[in-house]
Amino acid sequence: MSAVYTLSRGHSPLIVSMPHSGEALGPFAPRMTDAAHRIADTDWHLPRLYAFLGDMGATVLSANYSRYVIDLNRDPSGKSLYPGQNVTELCPTTTFAEEPIYRQGETPGVADVSERTKTYWHPYHTALTAEIERVKAEHGYALLWDAHSIRSHVPRFFEGCLPDFNLGTNEGASCDAGLAQQVYTAAKGAESFTSVLNGRFKGGYITRRYGNPAEDVHAIQLELAQITYMDESYPFAYQDDIAAKVAAPIRRMMEAMLAWRPEVARLRSSA
Ligand SMILES: [Zn+2]
Repeated sequence: MSAVYTLSRGHSPLIVSMPHSGEALGPFAPRMTDAAHRIADTDWHLPRLYAFLGDMGATVLSANYSRYVIDLNRDPSGKSLYPGQNVTELCPTTTFAEEPIYRQGETPGVADVSERTKTYWHPYHTALTAEIERVKAEHGYALLWDAHSIRSHVPRFFEGCLPDFNLGTNEGASCDAGLAQQVYTAAKGAESFTSVLNGRFKGGYITRRYGNPAEDVHAIQLELAQITYMDESYPFAYQDDIAAKVAAPIRRMMEAMLAWRPEVARLRSSA
């Protein structure tokens, strides 16, 4: 089995997680449908779009396996992120377009889901937890950016066209309010793009589980509309010219995050 994730360690307070950028279907590929093999619901090309992170000293953790194998941004207990709304499961059985992911009779059972949780889900979260602890030990606090992207139209999840930048802080619970405002202000400063804070996407499992201002961990999710940097239809090609235009304000949002200092760190550094 190839590695479950790719980790590039940096020495700034910023950690970036990309739980849905993986494309491998691994040993499950033969059980999956042709629709699944197109992996249409991937958060496509995020490591490429975020290539500027190398200059920012950020730690980057990205998934290598597809969200169709297991969704790293879901509660392993299977609890819904948005109760009452149409959501995909821990081990999804349908695509966003509601096509079956598995061939007949191949849908994963309880033992299969539990095995995948052990093999794919836990190693990613163990690595993320360890990086948060390491960064906190070095800086006194950690900043977590959970990077996502999605097609601008997905009728299963939302009506009409999604704004370009969808920032989520779990309604303010995952991140210091001043920090969230600084990042949101940077997003709104990009006039050719539309932005929202805690709109349809408020931050998924990772943002909610790890973001804890009282414990000096501040988490923000960016759900980026894919129309800003790529073709939204198969084969989902990256578009260099428009990608460069959207990468610049994303970088400014992350620089705004890095420019922020928590009260506690300010006190420590002036002591
Ligand atoms: Zn995602």
